[in-house]
Amino acid sequence: MTSPSSLQTDASAALFDRARAVTPGGVNSPVRAFNAVGGTPRFIRSAKGAWLTDVDGNEYVDLICSWGPMLLGHAHPEVQAAVAEAVARGTSYGTPTVPEVELAEEIVARTAVEKVRFVSSGTEATMSAIRLARGFTGREIVIKFAGCYHGHVDALLASAGSGLATLAVPGTPGVPASSAGLTIVLPYNDKVAVAAAFAEFGDRVACLITEAAPGNMGVVPPAPGFNAFLAQICRENGALFISDEVMTGFRASRQGQWGLDGAVEGWVPDLTTFGKVMGGGFPAAAFGGRADVMAHLSPEGPVYQAGTLAGNPVATTAGLTTLRLATDEVYDHISAAGETIKSAVADALAKEGVPHVIQATGTMFSVFFKDAAVSNFAEASEQDLPAYTAFFHAMLDQGVYLPPSAYEAWFLSSAHDDRAIQQVLDALPAAASAAAA
Ligand code: PLP
Repeated sequence: MTSPSSLQTDASAALFDRARAVTPGGVNSPVRAFNAVGGTPRFIRSAKGAWLTDVDGNEYVDLICSWGPMLLGHAHPEVQAAVAEAVARGTSYGTPTVPEVELAEEIVARTAVEKVRFVSSGTEATMSAIRLARGFTGREIVIKFAGCYHGHVDALLASAGSGLATLAVPGTPGVPASSAGLTIVLPYNDKVAVAAAFAEFGDRVACLITEAAPGNMGVVPPAPGFNAFLAQICRENGALFISDEVMTGFRASRQGQWGLDGAVEGWVPDLTTFGKVMGGGFPAAAFGGRADVMAHLSPEGPVYQAGTLAGNPVATTAGLTTLRLATDEVYDHISAAGETIKSAVADALAKEGVPHVIQATGTMFSVFFKDAAVSNFAEASEQDLPAYTAFFHAMLDQGVYLPPSAYEAWFLSSAHDDRAIQQVLDALPAAASAAAA
């Protein structure tokens, strides 16, 4: 596809051609290919603070932040220094290390989990949490919500069957029907559907997994009390409640989404998954929760789980340094920057008569190109995608890098200073006008 960009993108285009010759679609994760918006994906050469520089030398304010992890911005000097020191001590030993203990202590101190196990990706975290839930309960069925993404775990790449409370079908070729057939997919924020599924299958349900606040269909906050209801109905039915905080963890607030609801309302998930921010830009993720449940994990218990690079000393050093620097001031800054951008986006789109809804949970937000609030995936799917595409490209042309899909959260960092924010604000009128055209 040719780029509609007015920027010089020849070097990115040439690299994309080379990449496509050796890698499916030219990318190592699908959304990077710009398929939803068209045009040439930008190959990024370097990043510093709030800014990305591509191989053609174009600079962009980054509103993706590596899809969440870069809470402190890119190449933060203290994180870099800690990583450099860790690298100098060797990069992987396959033994227990100091930083993994310290990172585990930091996570336990900040969240509801009593014990935590490190893995290398969010996908591994959710996959392992589900295995543990099945091993702990001796049951097989998993309940999830449409529009919640938990990584590319077979059982979670499932689509709703026909009708409420029916077993699911594979969401992609390659997922066995037998795997999807142990999953139930329900509409998000729908207590009636959850109650019906438990009424039908309650004594077979191992766990219910939900994004603590969905960010993968755009940001769709849980209705007040929804997560508490899920925790309770799981408890009543002997199933485990898994809160997926891979995206929201240490991002929506200092304590993740749980800091915004569970900590206030007085309930805790049985298991929680983490990733993104806690890896400080390196491949690190985790799952954790109740000590009695985690005790079922090998080598303490019978449920097998392992990883050659799990708890890697460089990755855990990056994560630990990031979390130690992620003070209340960091979240306050991101929150204030978000407010400025949200209200400017709303003004610009309103001025051009472009239907839009901005939704947020804590410091995380997204913009839906439709005119009514979104509470589930069906409603998220009613967006004006061509309007978003026009908006996205107009922003990109003016040096603002938004997610190349209308179904994603926008991410900020503590490095988004006045200059970066001003560049976003300056780009909005023309982008809103393009969206209206
Ligand atoms: N869970 C959630 C909520 C996510 O947002 C993601 C990734 O975006 C994952 C799990 C999977 O994480 P990873 O891409 O590290 O495998």
